[in-house]
Amino acid sequence: MAKPKLALYWAASCGGCEIAVLDIHEKILDVAAAFDIVFWPCAMDFKYQDVRAMEDKSIDLCLFNGSIRNSEAAEIAHMLRAKSKVVVAFGSCALEGGIPGLANLTTKEDILRVVYKDTPSTVTQNGGVYPQTHSKMKEGSIEIPELWETVKSLDQVIDVEYYVPGCPPQPEQIWAVIEHVISGRPLPPKGSILGATDKTCCDECPRDRKEKKIKQFYRPFEIQTDPNECLLDQGMVCMGPATRSGCGALCTKANMPCRGCYGPPPHIVDQGAKMVSALASVIDSTEPEEIERILDQIADPMGTFYRFSLAHSILRRVEKV
Ligand code: SF4
Ligand code: SF4
Repeated sequence: MAKPKLALYWAASCGGCEIAVLDIHEKILDVAAAFDIVFWPCAMDFKYQDVRAMEDKSIDLCLFNGSIRNSEAAEIAHMLRAKSKVVVAFGSCALEGGIPGLANLTTKEDILRVVYKDTPSTVTQNGGVYPQTHSKMKEGSIEIPELWETVKSLDQVIDVEYYVPGCPPQPEQIWAVIEHVISGRPLPPKGSILGATDKTCCDECPRDRKEKKIKQFYRPFEIQTDPNECLLDQGMVCMGPATRSGCGALCTKANMPCRGCYGPPPHIVDQGAKMVSALASVIDSTEPEEIERILDQIADPMGTFYRFSLAHSILRRVEKV
């Protein structure tokens, strides 16, 4: 009997999701035994035209990581959508734009200017050579993908069956998802978040949270924290109250605040707004000037509250038509 077909793809991502798949260790052999891996460009030499030639819906499971920020990623996303029965937005960048989504705080023009003009070039000395999507040369013409103005999550570009959160998703969660498909058990309803729970990171965190009032915020290197007390109670901005559980509170157990990579818990539309509201209730002042002074201590508020979720948040730019 033919094995089910599996595809894995990376768009705008760091490669951590691909490494997380390998982190299931020897179970990767079970994956190879259970599936026919038909597309995994990060690991092996597959050709786009071979996937294009496949029949529609002939791939059983597609794990797609990375956000969509150029024409190539969008083209492959549409191709894999047509060829796959089940597409999973895999990891924070596919779910919500992730770290690449922070590019939505600026413009494509500014990004290209900083990278190709303001930064000295090792080739031209002066910089100022911008990438061209079409270039003609005597050997022929070449095309490179066009950078998009706005970074998008996968479900803002194609229809998606399931979501697996995390930066990266934890190996045991990845295995649970793959094992479910291998087992042939009925799949959960479309739109389900897999490999996570319906609580918050605080519910998984072993630290004692008393919701103390805060007068001073600290960055991790500025304070020696009590290992048993809630980090937020000690003045570190911990995204635990605004983050879905499922990782086992990995970061807070390692004495670092949660950065929010599992995305918002159920019924929270905007993770950053939820965290702002959680902080508003613990500021130890009623004086507007003092509140402002306390909040000013938070370094990089956008990168803190929307580190992974900006592209999927309610903060959107007006798109050019
Ligand atoms: S705010 Fe952070 S440190 Fe405090 S209980 Fe929640 S996850 Fe743990
Ligand atoms: S503690 Fe927060 S940032 Fe760390 S892995 Fe868990 S959800 Fe992600």
